[in-house]
Formats: sequence, C-alpha cells, structure tokens
Amino acid sequence: MPTSDAGGRPALSSDPETRLTVTANSDTCVTSNLCVNRLPQVFGQDEDGCVLVLDPHPAAELGRELLRARRSCPTRSIRVEGMKEGAEGPED
Ligand code: SF4
Repeated sequence: MPTSDAGGRPALSSDPETRLTVTANSDTCVTSNLCVNRLPQVFGQDEDGCVLVLDPHPAAELGRELLRARRSCPTRSIRVEGMKEGAEGPED
C-alpha cells in the first residue's frame, strides 16, 4: 500500500479495520447545508433540515473532502474517524 499520494501527502487508509467512520450531531446542527452541498453522497437532511449521515463508511478517496466538510461546519457537528495521522494535509 502506498504511504503517500502523488502530492507527497500521507495516503488514506483502505484497511477495513481503520476504515473511515463519519458521524454527525443533529442536535448541534444549524442546517447550514454546507456538508450536504459538499458531499451529498455522504450527508443528507431530515425533515427539519438537520444533518443525516447517509453513508457512515464512505470510500477512503473521500477522506480529504470529508475533512474539509468537517472543518467548514460552523458548529463542529461532524466527526471523521479512521484517518491516518497526518492525512489531513494543509488547511484550505
Ligand atoms: S455543515 Fe454542520 S451545521 Fe451545516 S448542515 Fe452540515 S452538520 Fe449541520
């Protein structure tokens, strides 16, 4: 398995034991839709507009986009687990 991508950044894990796990706290969600717009294959909304996780174990290729979604959430309602240390890369 490669330890870095073409840009020299650490590779994301594809190991099933360290696969990505996404959770979101609908109690703190303020329905900004930022995560839904960024990753509609992972995030959706309930009838009140609060976040729903549609795919709690998305493909590892979405890791960096998930971290961007996490960072851009105004209420820090999104958690992403299973990323290898240092995989976040530079801030946007
Ligand atoms: S970005 Fe955060 S506040 Fe906005 S819909 Fe997603 S979880 Fe809710």
